[in-house]
Amino acid sequence: MSDNDGKKTLGLRGGPRAGNVKQSFSHGRTKNVVVETKRKRVVVPKPGGAKPSTGGAAASGGDPSKRPAGISDAEMERRLKALKAAKAREVDEAAEREAEEKARAEERERRKAEIEAKEREEQEREDALRAKAEEDERKKREAEDAKKAADAAAAMPAPEAEAPRAAKPSSAPRKAPERDNKNDRNSKGKAARDDGRRSGKLTLNQALRGGEGGRQRSMAAMKRKQERARQKAMGGPVEREKVVRDVQVPETILVQELANRMAERVADVVKSLMNMGMMVTQNQPIDADTAELIVEEFGHKIVRVSDSDVEDVIQQVDDKDEELQARPPVITVMGHVDHGKTSLLDAIRNAKVVSGEAGGITQHIGAYQVKTDDDTLLTFLDTPGHAAFTSMRARGAQVTDIVVLVVAADDAVMPQTIEAINHAKAAGVPMIVAINKIDRPEADPDKVRTDLLQHEVIVEKMSGDVLDVEVSAINGTGLDTLLENIALQSELLDLKANPDRAASGAVIEAQLDVGRGPVATVLVQNGTLRQGDIFVVGEQWGKVRALINDKGDRVEEAGPSVPVEVLGLNGTPEAGDVLNVVDTEAQAREIAEYREKAAKDKRAAVGAATTLDQMMAKAKEDQAVSELPILVKADVQGSAEAIVQAMEKIGNDEVRVRVLHSGVGAITESDIGLAEASGAPVMGFNVRANATARNVANQKGVEIRYYSVIYDLVDDVKAAASGLLSAEVRENFIGYAEIKEVFKVTGVGKVAGCLVTEGIARRSAGVRLLRDDVVIHEGSLKTLKRFKDEVKEVQSGQECGMAFENYDDIRPGDVIEIFEREEVERQLD
Ligand code: GDP
Repeated sequence: MSDNDGKKTLGLRGGPRAGNVKQSFSHGRTKNVVVETKRKRVVVPKPGGAKPSTGGAAASGGDPSKRPAGISDAEMERRLKALKAAKAREVDEAAEREAEEKARAEERERRKAEIEAKEREEQEREDALRAKAEEDERKKREAEDAKKAADAAAAMPAPEAEAPRAAKPSSAPRKAPERDNKNDRNSKGKAARDDGRRSGKLTLNQALRGGEGGRQRSMAAMKRKQERARQKAMGGPVEREKVVRDVQVPETILVQELANRMAERVADVVKSLMNMGMMVTQNQPIDADTAELIVEEFGHKIVRVSDSDVEDVIQQVDDKDEELQARPPVITVMGHVDHGKTSLLDAIRNAKVVSGEAGGITQHIGAYQVKTDDDTLLTFLDTPGHAAFTSMRARGAQVTDIVVLVVAADDAVMPQTIEAINHAKAAGVPMIVAINKIDRPEADPDKVRTDLLQHEVIVEKMSGDVLDVEVSAINGTGLDTLLENIALQSELLDLKANPDRAASGAVIEAQLDVGRGPVATVLVQNGTLRQGDIFVVGEQWGKVRALINDKGDRVEEAGPSVPVEVLGLNGTPEAGDVLNVVDTEAQAREIAEYREKAAKDKRAAVGAATTLDQMMAKAKEDQAVSELPILVKADVQGSAEAIVQAMEKIGNDEVRVRVLHSGVGAITESDIGLAEASGAPVMGFNVRANATARNVANQKGVEIRYYSVIYDLVDDVKAAASGLLSAEVRENFIGYAEIKEVFKVTGVGKVAGCLVTEGIARRSAGVRLLRDDVVIHEGSLKTLKRFKDEVKEVQSGQECGMAFENYDDIRPGDVIEIFEREEVERQLD
């Protein structure tokens, strides 16, 4: 043992000196390791015969004949120095080793990759190495001679210094002799060389790791190596035989996904990337060029696909006839304002809830299902009017099967009636006319029928084929007939879907719910949506955490034409967004990201102006500017839709308002990004910008305007569009306070213990309560207290008690916004 130790020590020390040896291993960090590996290979073949002898002296004793005369003195000096240095190092080594252990653990993965790479390169290096090895051998023997001399001169220091160094790669030396022998036996055989390499690697692994993980990996690597060696021995190719695949790669791809598509192990791909100098984890994306190198390295064929191809994973297969089953129709109620759409929807729901589900309390989720007396299910969309219908259709969601056109019998066909007719016709959706308010004394249903003729709606009574029913939403007349007619119409349409496939559906409503996060009501259109399904919806994606039906019950699944609230989204989608279930989260994320980027690119319009004033000024001087882009964020989908509709109506020949984006929830950094790119201001309706967004907006000079009255917002934009900015009431935020605690005080109600975080709190000012950057209450203060005293103002940094007039749903963490209104004369220049 000590003989071997001695030899190793010398080898180790000799190694670093032979710098060229180390350099030949291109992945230089494994200095000691490399040397050891080589050393084994080197030491072994030649002194094989001499090896059995019993000591350093004996071992070298066989050599002097080869040693060139006259070198030993110089070498001796060198060796002595080295020994001293080794002794000094020995002290540091313990501590160093501990630190190294840690670093090694981290580098283990990387090293392994390097080792793999080395293995591949080793073949080419073999010859060069052997040449060097011979030289090393010679040097080593010289060194041994020197050592022998050193031993003679200073017998004690040498073993002391040597022992710890030898002990360091503890398992390596023990194994070395066996392999040495093996190599000795077959030093010329190819397979043996392989074997030698493996042994080198094993030693290395053990020396480096010692840990179990390392050993396991070594075993796996060993097996692979053995396999390769076997193939080589059989004259086979060095590379594993493998299936060459066509690998689809989009412009960017996650490492993990790339590995999947190649059917390779993720770890191998990560290793290859590391060998290329790219330190990435499996969850990071790489670009297509890098992916191409990897794909080629693994021997596959790359097929580059464009970004939009990521959508291809969405199941597009057509259902076979035998897979299709009847599904309930989806009905939208349309008509002129005040003709009774809401009343009719409520009447149908109430009638059916009371009679159908005893004691059932319906929950508004944007759609509901009722059962007719002959057990036909009907799905009603609870958002009346053509605005929702149109905006859904514009987004590609054709949800409605049947339109119920409500016309008041005491009125006539009105502008919105005509619009509704046009929308239904454009969408190719059949209509049923509900002539409402038939209970009214002045009701004249036949006038409605004749009126409709002018718009090419010929009802049955006029010998046409459009079903018409006289109803009263107030007293319930004709409701059953209406439902029967709907069921009849639905039968004619022969509506079918395949419940046994990945679900797809459309978002009817979506909002950011305090507590539940983003919530979307989805009408399943095909397939069955289940808890746990992974989906992409518009630019968002998620995994179904819970499904809640229109009765407020949690359900496991929802089939065709069933509306459900979906929880588990990563963001708030928009009404009309289409939901598709996909197989993996990676796919869902990829599609969502692609869509977001595509939408951003599409929206990004050119234009430098950012504030309304500037834009208007620009519009004036530059006739070419014909669009006034804006971004709208609102507290609920309904407000957002209303604002967008209003915006679309603004404008004249010269200027038109273009809503680049509208959404629900706080104004975020990405909104600001889009606004900046398009030179648009951001309109917040009952929402606020979060802190990051505020900062970015300040930096980039993006204007954020807050409103709590839709008309104010519309007026402002109108004014900007027409170039007439009049005097306006402007709000100034004078302070912000955060609610730390909530107390109950008898006689006062709930009092918020606050810290004024910005500006001042003023008793006389207006206040708003913000929860997650959404305005949930606006009003005034009932009390502003500092300690026990009622005060007029509280400065930033101070604590105070506040209570709202007529409102007490306050919680810790809520933010109180304090604002004042002032009249400002707006300037145009
Ligand atoms: P929408 O704007 O189309 O949704 O109309 P609403 O449902 O809000 O109804 C407008 C007004 O008409 C309300 O005051 C209702 O009470 C009234 N109304 C709705 N249906 C009837 C009806 O069948 N008979 C009578 N007499 N009034 C009705």
